[in-house]
Amino acid sequence: MKRNLNNRLDCLSLCSFIRGRGMQNKSTWCTLTMALMLVVSRSIVGDNVAPSQSPPNDIPVFNVPQFLVFGFDDQDELSGMQAVIGIFKQRKNPQGLGQKETFDGTPLRCAFYTAGQYLDYTTIKNLHYQALSDGFEIGNHTYSHTTGFNTSQSTWENEMEQCNSMLASAGIPEESIVGFRTPFLEYNNATFKAMTSLGFLYDCSIEEGFEKDQTAGSYFWPHTLDNGSPGNKAMIELNQPYELIKSYPGIWEIACYDLILPHDSICENYGISRGLRARTCNTIDYFDTTTGKLTGLDYNLIEEAEVSADEFLGILKYTLDLNYEGNRAPMTFGAHSRYYSNTTWARQLEDFIDYALSYPDVRIVRPVDLISWMRDPTPLDTGVTGITDDLHRKYSTDAFRINVLPHRSIQISGYNDGTVTAALFALNGKKIPSVCRGFSHGKTRGLVLTASSVSAGVVIVSVKNRRMTYYRKVQLRDGF
Ligand SMILES: [Zn+2]
Repeated sequence: MKRNLNNRLDCLSLCSFIRGRGMQNKSTWCTLTMALMLVVSRSIVGDNVAPSQSPPNDIPVFNVPQFLVFGFDDQDELSGMQAVIGIFKQRKNPQGLGQKETFDGTPLRCAFYTAGQYLDYTTIKNLHYQALSDGFEIGNHTYSHTTGFNTSQSTWENEMEQCNSMLASAGIPEESIVGFRTPFLEYNNATFKAMTSLGFLYDCSIEEGFEKDQTAGSYFWPHTLDNGSPGNKAMIELNQPYELIKSYPGIWEIACYDLILPHDSICENYGISRGLRARTCNTIDYFDTTTGKLTGLDYNLIEEAEVSADEFLGILKYTLDLNYEGNRAPMTFGAHSRYYSNTTWARQLEDFIDYALSYPDVRIVRPVDLISWMRDPTPLDTGVTGITDDLHRKYSTDAFRINVLPHRSIQISGYNDGTVTAALFALNGKKIPSVCRGFSHGKTRGLVLTASSVSAGVVIVSVKNRRMTYYRKVQLRDGF
């Protein structure tokens, strides 16, 4: 059955309207009907978003939320799912300015990708129904958890449909199930054909980050699979047994980003004894001590790398910090609820969440929330008082020369990439209206930014090339 992808996302918010399982109540029906009308009128053409290492809409990196997205797989143990729900329900996102578009002050929520076979008793069904009613997202993780690299399209479809019908038996409307994760992160083109034919909005099975020139802080932002997946290509280059993923228009990838294990020089800052990367080499033969990259699942930390509780926490904190100090691409953590019935892991998860929430611009949201933000990217506008010197160093680049000219103009030159664009921002992150023109004098060419309404003081110039956006603080003198 084909469905409009865009309608499905809106249907998830719709589910908060569904309170009584039977929906016999006339006023519920009424609300539901009105909401459905809204859904239809909001329907738009399919998304097509290319992978980018810069935040969408040219929002400066210091003004975008650092999203953190948790997805818990399997749900084979009731107590694990209960523990996770308990941890999330006790917490809220930082208050910010109270904007709903950036999830300021919203209750913490996550996604559960459940394998249908585990939904075979009443209490687990009730827990799923209650979780959905409380605003958690429920996703599909096949029925039997036996799929792999060679599974056919019809088998993927059967597995997805069987899982959906088990979820339906728990009162989860099919329209609310928009996300899919494959067992073992194993997929092929048949997976995405099946997802397309069943109308899923997003996948979260592709590992992202093994690109040689990337680490946490320069990963790609979420994108659609209109032109395949760079993470998938990187896995193939590493001789992993994946097929090259073709074009699947409109399907979002909320990738499973790699974790980064701290280098010796920084281990102690994260409560970890030195030598973590070397120790990990003893447990995982493919682990690369130079990059420190590890598949972003708790399974790989706990079962493969056999990390201690302190290491588990330190690795998550370090990866978040790299993202936060870098391009702020979202951090995702693929988890399995069963581990968190164990108080050791539950405690580390809580400590990590509290660490993340100590940053005023971290937002812990469901994958559907991240997609709705990507469709309509909104800056935090928290009134940042300035780029810190650290941030300044991070984004300064010698790749460009920036000169302040008379007549409220700033010249950017010294690059040879024809696609460079530039913009001007106030220290609070708001864009200052300016005109950007190209120039060339002999061999020198570049851009001139002219702002008609700007006074003396410090402003931020952003310069974006094909790969990254760089920021530099510029002092504008009197008479500028
Ligand atoms: Zn699984």
